[in-house]
Amino acid sequence: RLYNEVQDLKGNIRVYCRIRPFLPGQSKKLTTVEYIGENGELVIINPAKQGKDNRRLFKFNKVFGPTCSQEDVFLDTQPLIRSVLDGYNVCIFAYGQTGSGKTYTMSGPDVSLRAEWGVNYRALNDLFEISQSRKGSISYEIGVQMVEIYNEQVRDLLSTSVPDAGMHPVRSTSDVLDLMKIGLTNRAVGATALNERSSRSHSVLTIHVRGVDLETDAILRGSLHLIDLAGSERVDRSEATGDRLKEAQHINKSLSALGDVIFALAQKNSHIPYRNSKLTQVLQSSLGGQAKTLMFVQINPDVESYSETISTLKFAERVS
Ligand code: ADP
Ligand code: MG
Repeated sequence: RLYNEVQDLKGNIRVYCRIRPFLPGQSKKLTTVEYIGENGELVIINPAKQGKDNRRLFKFNKVFGPTCSQEDVFLDTQPLIRSVLDGYNVCIFAYGQTGSGKTYTMSGPDVSLRAEWGVNYRALNDLFEISQSRKGSISYEIGVQMVEIYNEQVRDLLSTSVPDAGMHPVRSTSDVLDLMKIGLTNRAVGATALNERSSRSHSVLTIHVRGVDLETDAILRGSLHLIDLAGSERVDRSEATGDRLKEAQHINKSLSALGDVIFALAQKNSHIPYRNSKLTQVLQSSLGGQAKTLMFVQINPDVESYSETISTLKFAERVS
């Protein structure tokens, strides 16, 4: 059993920082990343400022530098994902400004590039493999749901005509790939520019697991939520108007509500403010209690992103 592996993970909330590489054509740019330590240290430098107070040290459970592969990242995420088959609820978030690599970490650049699969496809693959290997003792059923939260409204991406149709049973990774294609197509419907829209909505992929112990008939339930959050960048109030301003306010509200919930959980407060946003309402039953949370804090190393980087890291500092 994998139970011991889970016990070894300290605490219920962990924060990983991932720094994306400079993209082709973007090379030799100035970077804000000065130092990445073995034990989760990260030093950020403000190149515009002289003197010794132009550096800040942040500390995470782990920092993945620009050369880390999808596999490296997955290896440190796998024990958490496997605990779902033992009946845990797990939430994995990607937080950061648009272009910082959230979708790359959660999904990868392209479903057809298996070697570059992100956490979600690898997780499902792993869950199927392990459930298969246990089939003599536990019989598992796995179901998938995919929703988008945009302007505080939840939209089911897998069943557009039937709201809240819920879980779709899946038996293999290819079932999942077929469903995800439908989800991605539905996400694009009605959106003038998919990238624009996707950066301003949260996407939540939920995997539910139900296992029956063949000897005792005991039932266990676990869930995995994989959340690609809306871009955390601050929108200039003087420039944003109308729909754009409304979107920005909703994003702002839901990201700070998420921060408040995780902060309250980390502090072990008795009151956890779940009701303040759709996102935290949707995740309520899977955040807190015995649930495990992992936040990927995504960084664009570019010097132009300095102030967004600092605000992202401050958010992370509060919840870790
Ligand atoms: P976000 O979802 O935060 O807006 P993306 O995941 O779309 O950002 O990443 C922006 C761009 O950077 C994409 O072209 C993506 O493929 C690329 N990218 C992000 N992270 C990495 C990485 N670790 N390695 C290589 N390319 C990356
Ligand atoms: Mg994205």
